[in-house]
Amino acid sequence: MVNENDAEASFVPMSSAPDKWLRKEHLPHIWCPGCGIGTILRQVIEQFTKLGWKNDDVVFVTGIGCTGRASGYVNAQTLHTIHGRALPTATGIKMARPDMHVVAMLGDGDGVGIGGNHFIHAAKRNIGVTAIVVNNRIYGMTGGQVSPTTPQGSKSTTTPYGNVEPSMDVCKLALGAGATFVARVHTANPVYVGQIIGRALQHDGFAVVEVLSQCPTYFGRFNGMPDPVQMLQWFKENTFMAKSPEDEKEGKIPIGVFKDDKTTPELSKSYRNLWEA
Ligand code: SF4
Repeated sequence: MVNENDAEASFVPMSSAPDKWLRKEHLPHIWCPGCGIGTILRQVIEQFTKLGWKNDDVVFVTGIGCTGRASGYVNAQTLHTIHGRALPTATGIKMARPDMHVVAMLGDGDGVGIGGNHFIHAAKRNIGVTAIVVNNRIYGMTGGQVSPTTPQGSKSTTTPYGNVEPSMDVCKLALGAGATFVARVHTANPVYVGQIIGRALQHDGFAVVEVLSQCPTYFGRFNGMPDPVQMLQWFKENTFMAKSPEDEKEGKIPIGVFKDDKTTPELSKSYRNLWEA
């Protein structure tokens, strides 16, 4: 297991994953220089390769937003759905085809803002979907508006004097709603991101991996960190390994695996058991 704070662990060797899992004809991608979404997507496809999954057996679903564009680049069965609706779409696919690996990649606004109710119900149902929540703490694509996860006091285009609302904790929400695998990581350590996404992909139930990710264009520029390296350094200095999102340490953000419950039945299997009884 990689120590999260081991700087050397950030090195990611080249692999054949991009050749198998990217639609290279759709590149170059639209993301800004220094954006964290590409780092996360790279780790997702690395894990697809490690698990030996076939392209046709993976359904990759996204909603709308900067993260939502990821489905255009992945060489799998992909759906680019409407805003906030990736999870109900993924739920329907998993119920119809429980044999498929269903992965939803969501932004914070898409996942727990506009799609918040769907997020709660996917967790409650324990549907066998991996939800990767890219939390850049802002609505990026639409111009840097405040999102549910924008920290209190942080600036955005719609909160130029600082956000007066408390921010939403994605992992606490997932735990409270019943998700059976819940973890938080950040893009300053891509190897650890990959390890945890790999565990989530193999989980039989609703698995949530919140990835703190840098948006230098909007969140960083409005909050004194216009250089993506500053944002990555901020993640390193302001997080700590924890067992629960409730853990506290000098005002830092807890990261790690907070739940890994292998006993709660997955929804599509429960439904099929009922059907066949
Ligand atoms: Fe990434 Fe932010 Fe640019 Fe969107 S606006 S592509 S999240 S850096």
